[in-house]
Amino acid sequence: MVMKVIFLFIDGVGMRPPAADNPVNPEVCPTLCRLVNDHSKPIDACLAVEGVPQSATGQATMFTGLNCAAAMGKHCEGFPGPALRQLVAENNLFLQLDRRGKRVKFADGYLVDSADELALHRFKSVTTVMALSLPKSISTADDLARNEAVYQDLTRETIQDRYPDIPVVSPQRAAEHLFALAQGYDFTLYEFFQTDVSGHSMDYDRACSVLRVYDQFLSTLVRHTENAGITLVMTADHGNIENMSERGHTTNEVPFIAVGPKEKELRSRVRSLADVTPAILSVFDEI
Ligand SMILES: [Zn+2]
Repeated sequence: MVMKVIFLFIDGVGMRPPAADNPVNPEVCPTLCRLVNDHSKPIDACLAVEGVPQSATGQATMFTGLNCAAAMGKHCEGFPGPALRQLVAENNLFLQLDRRGKRVKFADGYLVDSADELALHRFKSVTTVMALSLPKSISTADDLARNEAVYQDLTRETIQDRYPDIPVVSPQRAAEHLFALAQGYDFTLYEFFQTDVSGHSMDYDRACSVLRVYDQFLSTLVRHTENAGITLVMTADHGNIENMSERGHTTNEVPFIAVGPKEKELRSRVRSLADVTPAILSVFDEI
């Protein structure tokens, strides 16, 4: 059997019961809520480290399988520093899949001409550090222009002033681009962080519009992956958007969603962010 995984990393979406200030509800994002209800398991993002979970250590943990918050002695915000970058560069999921002979793609198109140009960027996210450790995984502006990548805002609306030759697409089209791209790879990652950005804004309507766009994308994508027998995995680094009354992140659990072949095995193997990479590797190792 050919095993294929599309991994959706969604930033800042935690689990919380329905509330007036929780935009993660079936009216706003019906597909996400259906997947959370029927195909997910809540997992821990606090990692037994005091304080509120943050992006750098949460993402580093998700993509290495090491408890990076414990390694750093705290939750680290934003872009990883040198020590965390080194942990990610040496131990990440992309490299471990590549060593197993799996074809790996980071679907988010960077607005650069090459991996070398991206390497010159001063600030690098965890996923950028991971992608740079396997330069062939990187998608460029040319890939975006050919619809062989997806922009981080899904629709490309935010880059129209600078890149008028990369036309706006609907969220549904973006899902089709991602699905077509994933045909050529064993593992394809797409990262979306506008959920976290809007969570920090404390603007409920803005959070709803971001979730609506993402849900249109997700609804098209999951229809395609279910028909094709591709496993869709989705998780978040920490909570945020599910509580719009707080500007910062939350300590809530995050959903680990798996839909498709191996979904039960995947869910049974995760309890915290540190289990995500080992769980994905284990299902590739079994086939
Ligand atoms: Zn944040």
